[in-house]
Formats: sequence, structure tokens, C-alpha cells
Amino acid sequence: MKTLDNWIGGRQVAPLGGAYLDDFEPATGQVIARIPDSGPEEIDQAVAAARAVFPVWAGLSVAKRAERLEALAGLIERDAGRLAELESLDTGKPLTLAREIDMGRARANLRFFAQAMQQWSSSSHDMGNIGFNYTRREPLGPVALITPWNLPLYLLTWKLAPALVTGNTVVAKPSELTPLTADALAALSLEAGIPAGVFNLIQGTGARCGQALVDHADIKAISFTGGTVTGRHIAATAAPRLIKTSLELGGKNSAIVHADADIDHTVAGLMRAGFTNQGQVCLCSSRWLIHESIYEPLVERLVEAVSALKVGDPNEPDNSQGALISAEHRDKVMSFIKQAKEDGGRILTGGETIQPEGRCHGGYFVRPTLISDLPAASRLHFDEIFGPVVTLQRFSNEDQAIELANSTDYGLAATVWTRDLATAHRTAARLQSGIVWINDWLVRDLRTPFGGVKHSGLGREGGNWSLEFFTEPKNVFVSMR
Ligand code: NDP
Repeated sequence: MKTLDNWIGGRQVAPLGGAYLDDFEPATGQVIARIPDSGPEEIDQAVAAARAVFPVWAGLSVAKRAERLEALAGLIERDAGRLAELESLDTGKPLTLAREIDMGRARANLRFFAQAMQQWSSSSHDMGNIGFNYTRREPLGPVALITPWNLPLYLLTWKLAPALVTGNTVVAKPSELTPLTADALAALSLEAGIPAGVFNLIQGTGARCGQALVDHADIKAISFTGGTVTGRHIAATAAPRLIKTSLELGGKNSAIVHADADIDHTVAGLMRAGFTNQGQVCLCSSRWLIHESIYEPLVERLVEAVSALKVGDPNEPDNSQGALISAEHRDKVMSFIKQAKEDGGRILTGGETIQPEGRCHGGYFVRPTLISDLPAASRLHFDEIFGPVVTLQRFSNEDQAIELANSTDYGLAATVWTRDLATAHRTAARLQSGIVWINDWLVRDLRTPFGGVKHSGLGREGGNWSLEFFTEPKNVFVSMR
């Protein structure tokens, strides 16, 4: 069993009190590592290290910083096999998914922002004979990056790359449930030539370690991805200090299937949208709204497809569904299924836990589940379940579909399925959602704005939005008189 330490100032540092937490493998329920149970003292040390090296890192040319990010991307590529294994071990996601999606995206994040920063320009405003203005974009200082357990390396690199390339130094805290790839990334960052102290990593719980980080007076901005309740708390903590926060929060995303949708294409798309990573992606469509004229035949196809999903050992390439992140999360997902039954819903497929034979007998598996016939007021239509559970509803006209989709507190990512151009654009325009995919799901262009409305977050990440978040504009006027 591995014991991890924190990364402070380029060195591995044991927690001051010597206390560690267990890290579990979701597919087996076994302890696989111990991580520091860090608190305010460790955060103090990490922020001090990030402050000390900030002038050096911020003073490098953009090209030099970008070069180090490119080098880190190269090391992720070199070690992709090992990193994917760590990610799958720590999250319970299928190894093939970790290889194909998570590792590819981690590399792409670093490369994209290394290049984007070199294409970025600041503005200048001419005032004729009086003079002119130019606007500098300056890094902020040490910033906090806080990430969830569902896409650990994918989301950490999504924040780390723009933070570093713009000249900030970082203290990161991954979820205590998934510490392994963040630890590996910290080691690789030194090998890539990122100076000691530029990227510090502190492991521990959200309540103690995360809270100490967001409370720290020398942290200049917080980029957070996680649940809405935590995000709201972080916003309240940061507000009195008037520091920037970027909040990417939960979702309850609808898929609207119009009467003229291409059925084969829609079934394939909905399977990805509903069940990728066992439904544990903030963007997953967990509410499928289907036009009444195609409801019965489409649901028949969907039940068949969902029932055919193979669940079990993440190392088996045939299994497209791995384990849920923890025993507690599995129990939470199962409590929603129980609630659905009490509300009078029909479980069309799934609805139960699984104990596979052999190595994964103690893992946290739930069979992919489709639920229909819930009353309109059931909380399953409104609460984020964040698991392999999808609810089905029928609608009779476009207005009703939009009303159902917009009736939750969230507004992150919707999908629309139709062959009619006007219907597609009209539906997209009327949805309260930061992102809309038409006839697809999770197609990402890293230049586009990423984020949600309502309780799904505040601010946008991606492309120039990330570069702007991690910099402060300073206008300089030059007189010509
Ligand atoms: P949480 O909000 O529980 O945790 C997110 C991170 O915040 C973790 O690192 C957690 O640490 C930390 N944390 C918890 N409490 C505090 C605190 N008081 N101060 C500082 N940090 C704290 O979310 P989950 O990890 O459970 O992730 C699932 C959620 O993330 C879902 O709601 C999902 O929708 C959302 N999400 C949103 C995405 C988006 O882009 N909009 C993308 C992916 C997920 P620890 O885990 O150690 O407690």
C-alpha cells in the first residue's frame, strides 16, 4: 500500500501531525493508499512556497512558461498507461475510459492553454493626439484549485494549465477520494521543469484542508469544481475578501427528444449522455424528455440498450460500466431509487446493486437504471443524482418540453435531438442552460465557454474565459502631450 505526502516547494512533505486518511478502491472496497490528513499548517506552508516563487514564475516569458506546459503534456503522454491505471484504480471507472478520455483530455488541456496564451493579445485604445491606453493582463499570485473526484486529472489540468501559463502559482487540493493522479502530476511537473513551489499539492478533507485553503489571506483567486452546496459556501467565504471565484457546480441536465429525431443516432447518443462514467459527469443527461408520438418505441429501444450495458471489473475491456465512487455515494444513489419506488415510479431496468464474483465482490456497483411514470413533482426530476439513473417523461408539444427542462434549479448542459433545423435552434435558444448540444453530447472545443447558469455555477472556463479569470487587467495611459 502506498503512502502519499504533500508536495510543498517541490518536496514531498509528510503531514505535520502525522495523521493519514485511507484511500479506497471503489471496484473492490479495499484500501489502496494513505493520504495526508492536512490542515491549516500544511496550507500555510504551501501558500508560502507559492508566494515565494511567484515573482520568478510570473517574470518568465510566456514562451518559456508554455514550453514547460508542453513538456508536462509530453510526460503525461509518455506515462499515459500508468496514469490511466491509477485513475481507474482510484475512481472505479473503466480503464478504457480513463485511457481514451481522461488521459487524452489531460494532455490536450495543457497543450491547448500553452498555445492559446501565445496567441492571446491584450488591447490598446487610441485617443488621437492626446495619447493612448494599453491594457496589461497581470497574473494574480498564488491561486487555489479545488477539484472533484469524477474526473480527477482531466479537471485538475483544465484549471492548472491556464493558471500556470498566465503566470500564477498554485496550491491545489484534489478530492480526498481520488488523490493518486494529482500526486503523480505534481512529480511530473518538476520533471517538466516547472520550478519548485509553482505547483503545490495538499491532500486532505474538504472540511479541514479545503476550508483552510479558501480561508487563506494570501490566496488571490479560487477556481472550484464540485457540488452546489460546497460552491455556495466557498463563494460566501471568498466574498468578504473580494477575491475572484470561478464556480463550476452541479447539473440536472435534460435531453429533449423531438418527434422527428433520428432514432438510431439518438439511442446511441443518449446512452453516452446518460451513462458515461456511471452517470458521474456533471454534464450527463439524467432526464430524458421524449415526444409522446415516439415515446413507446423509443423507450423500448432504450430499455434494451441500457439492459445490455455490462457492469463490473473496470479492468475488463467489455465492461463499459465500473463502480461508483464510494459506498456512501452508492447508498445515496440507491436511496433515490427507493424514493422513486415510493413515489410510484416504474423501474424499467436496473434498480439494484451488483456484487460481481471474484476480485470486485466488495465494490460499489449499481446496475444502470431507467425510471418512468414518476409523478411530475417527484424530486428525482429535480435533484442531482450523479449516478447511473435516468428518469423518463413524455411531452406533447415544444412549450411543454422547454417548461419541463427549465423547471430545475440547475442550468448546465442540455441536449436536443431533432432533424429539423428551426426546431433545433428555437429549442436551444429557449433553454436555460450554459451549454446546449444538438444531436450530440460532450463534444468539446476548448475555445468555447464552459459553465452553467442558475445553481450550476458562476463564471465560465475555457479559452479566453480561463485566461481572463486568472489575470487582472491593468490599464496604462501614455500621454502624447
Ligand atoms: P464536493 O463539492 O463535495 O467536493 C468538491 C471539492 O471540494 C473536493 O475536493 C472537496 O474535498 C472540496 N471541498 C469540500 N468542502 C470544502 C470546503 N468547505 N472548502 C473547500 N473545499 C471543499 O463535490 P464532489 O467531489 O462530491 O463532486 C461531485 C459534484 O461536482 C457534483 O455535484 C458534480 O455535478 C460537480 N461537478 C461539476 C462539474 C462542472 O464542471 N460543473 C464537473 C464535475 C463535477 P473532499 O472531496 O476531500 O471533501
